[in-house]
Amino acid sequence: MSRFLSSRFSGLEPYVPGEQPRDRRYIKLNTNESPYPPAPQVIEAISAAEVADLRLYSDPACTSLKRKLAQKFGMSPENIFVGNGSDEVLSFIFMAFCDEKTGVSYPDISYGFYPVYANLYGLASNVVPLREDFTLAPEDYSNLNTTIVFANPNAPTGMCLSVEDVERIVRANPDNVVAVDEAYVDFGGESCAELTKRYDNLIVTRTFSKSHSLAGARLGFAVADSKLIGDLERLRNSNNPYNVNSLTLKAGEVALEAQDYYDNNNATIIQTRDYFTSELRKLGFSVLDSKTNFVFAGCPKLSGEELYLGLKARGILVRFFKRPRLDGCVRITIGSREQMDALLKEIKELIL
Ligand SMILES: *Cc1c(COP(=O)(O)O)cnc(C)c1O
Repeated sequence: MSRFLSSRFSGLEPYVPGEQPRDRRYIKLNTNESPYPPAPQVIEAISAAEVADLRLYSDPACTSLKRKLAQKFGMSPENIFVGNGSDEVLSFIFMAFCDEKTGVSYPDISYGFYPVYANLYGLASNVVPLREDFTLAPEDYSNLNTTIVFANPNAPTGMCLSVEDVERIVRANPDNVVAVDEAYVDFGGESCAELTKRYDNLIVTRTFSKSHSLAGARLGFAVADSKLIGDLERLRNSNNPYNVNSLTLKAGEVALEAQDYYDNNNATIIQTRDYFTSELRKLGFSVLDSKTNFVFAGCPKLSGEELYLGLKARGILVRFFKRPRLDGCVRITIGSREQMDALLKEIKELIL
């Protein structure tokens, strides 16, 4: 830390992303990327002509992508906010809708970026523990008088709330914003995006990173009442109006037109997940039922850290969280069937 860093940030604890090592080739099952490439149309659309157009600024209003997203959700472009990954969208939500004193509530076990953003913006955090069995109980989210953020399906548990349960939380907090992070909803969860048409305090975030094979493009969005979206636009235009680059905007638009391709891949990932879950259980692992493209699993013989290190030495990366309640398990991204079979083979050798 230099002596020039503002004292506001001296206590900041940055988010630690999953490893992206470049030292050797790993089977990478640690950051929930898709094992499948973007749709052929997307690859084709990033043409030499598009690259040549990089001399121009991107469309700061994301007009065309917003129009297509609005159509997909049966909404209007004023209900859509577009960001540089849903991380940026979440960052603006914390910036915009959280009061410094009352702050923000989120589950103790959830996406690791929530406490980081709370800290960055100097917000009080009200951390609400998940129940013993890792479920989020809607009744724990009433009368909090804070902004509420949670992931549905949740990470790293993979567990999902019904739309009715989300609605209960939204109704119980009419004077506070409820943000639902649906990064994994395309793998079997229930989206509550439709509820944003009826509740002006609900905002739903989504990403192209996981289910649309575009993690490196950085593209996320939110749907909500036009007033909430207007607030986010105010902040975005006070920060970086060209937050999404033109190649990414193009890729996102074309990806929306290739929905069948992604639906098909996501169905395959769901199948592979269910196969992998049952194989792990045969080996004595405890595995939470997942509605995402990862599973959270504990080995009967090894700690989470031992499993993580053992697999890394064998060329397979999974995610380990060194903290109470999570350190008995690892989070494993669902890759291709071949990758999961290779992983199962290594696991069998490790535990024999
Ligand atoms: C991956 C992830 C995100 C961020 O996705 P990007 O769009 O790549 O920034 C947000 N929330 C959760 C729960 C995630 O797992």
